[in-house]
Amino acid sequence: MSEVRTRFAPSPTGFLHVGGARTALFNYLYARAQKGKFILRIEDTDQVRSTEESYHQVLDSLKWLGYEWDEGPEVGGPYGPYRQSERLDLFKKYSEQLIAEKKAYPCFCSADELERKKKQREAMGLPYVYDGKCRNLTAEEVAEKKAQGVEHTVRFRTPAKEVVVEDMVQGTVRFDTALIGDFIIVKSDGFASYNYAVVIDDYLMKISHVIRGVGHLSNTPRQVLVYEAFGWQVPAWAHVSEIVGSDHKKLSKRHGATPITAFRDLGYTARAFNNYMALLGWSSPDGREYMPIAEQKTLFDVARCSKSPAMFDVFDLQKAADVDLAQATIAELETYLFAKSKLNWLSNQHIRATPDDDFVREILPFVKASGFVPEAECREDNERLREILLSLRVYLDTLGQIRNYLPDFYQPFAPQKSDYVSSEYFTSEKFTSLAVAFQRHIEQMNATSDTLNPDAIKEALNLVGKETDTKGKPLFMTLRLASTGRLEGLELPVYLSLLGKARVLDRLAKMVALKGAP
Ligand code: GLU
Repeated sequence: MSEVRTRFAPSPTGFLHVGGARTALFNYLYARAQKGKFILRIEDTDQVRSTEESYHQVLDSLKWLGYEWDEGPEVGGPYGPYRQSERLDLFKKYSEQLIAEKKAYPCFCSADELERKKKQREAMGLPYVYDGKCRNLTAEEVAEKKAQGVEHTVRFRTPAKEVVVEDMVQGTVRFDTALIGDFIIVKSDGFASYNYAVVIDDYLMKISHVIRGVGHLSNTPRQVLVYEAFGWQVPAWAHVSEIVGSDHKKLSKRHGATPITAFRDLGYTARAFNNYMALLGWSSPDGREYMPIAEQKTLFDVARCSKSPAMFDVFDLQKAADVDLAQATIAELETYLFAKSKLNWLSNQHIRATPDDDFVREILPFVKASGFVPEAECREDNERLREILLSLRVYLDTLGQIRNYLPDFYQPFAPQKSDYVSSEYFTSEKFTSLAVAFQRHIEQMNATSDTLNPDAIKEALNLVGKETDTKGKPLFMTLRLASTGRLEGLELPVYLSLLGKARVLDRLAKMVALKGAP
């Protein structure tokens, strides 16, 4: 078989969201798994909607995700240019060929006229198909209209037939061209339409597999007709499942079709996000879910993709009811994340698997952004910070969540009695005696520095238990509360050793005072 060549062909009319990114990933993975080429082509012939800003945003997102394209913008390649707006002469050449062969014709119907006819059909409950008014204009009629300067489009002369699409994911799908009619291939502004340009480019770029969202399946028969008109072989088609929100509705901005860069800014790693996206419609042969991209690059097969919709479960849609998540700030998005999403689970796994140095380097920007750690201390070689970060790592689903843990280690402790009065451990009459006994042990612990040894703390906890004749939860929860001000957190000996002696004593003193206060 000839070389596998896949392509991702975004229209730069908005930001890249998970729908597009997943298509890019599947094309990238399939090309890698088949030892082929992955091509990036920018479909920017929609002059009104395409923007440079969107072009850069799409490229930035793809770079963050790490899909190195073998050919495309910035890297070039043998079949360029790779932006459709730079390929207009090619589209012109081939449309002239179709007109000369009578496979396409100029159409002078005005937009108003077409709109009126469309409305009439709709009012009758009928699908709109072009009525063929300009199909059989004579050469003289065409010349006359052109001489009068009447604007025109170019339409494809659709033959009456059944188009059969053999799809690697959807199976065999049949289309009756009577429902398609003669479609526009060149718009009145002279720009090629999508269904036509995509064929010229896929053919000239030698694309072997077209992998894209199932939403494009209905466009495929039009594209097949164009291939047939030129006598070109069609590529293999693979239309992958739709992505839906957790309410089973089509993914929209309300569901979290947010810019891909938002996931980066929330503190998901590209490694985790790629792992998650790969599972949106694909599954590995042995059903494993956690999988580094290097493995996906060898295992991915588009033929294993499922037809059923894939669920994007990242946001809690009940909480975010009626919120346009695509417009939300990162801080707002954070509050709408669904804590138990598959993405969070995978992300936590990937964070745990990151080598220590890489983890510290990756999380540091989030530590800085939290504002809780003095600027001068935000360094990779800061031992205390490093230890804190590495101990907290297992709790993080996103790097951004570090913000919730840092105040504990870096901000002054100022407990309020109202926060504790409902806790049985705080109200217990043993609270003070346990806290004071523990305080005494800690005070004796290391006279020369602030460091506390986790083993010594463990021993102290047990000694306090013996001295006060307490054990189990009443012992450990009370001492946790008394020494940290909190009922949850890291394993206590580790937690206290990270806090350091001065902070632990400060907390114990403040909690004892709080208990005694009226
Ligand atoms: N530019 C089209 C889009 O963004 C590409 C569709 C295709 O892959 O053929 O939807």
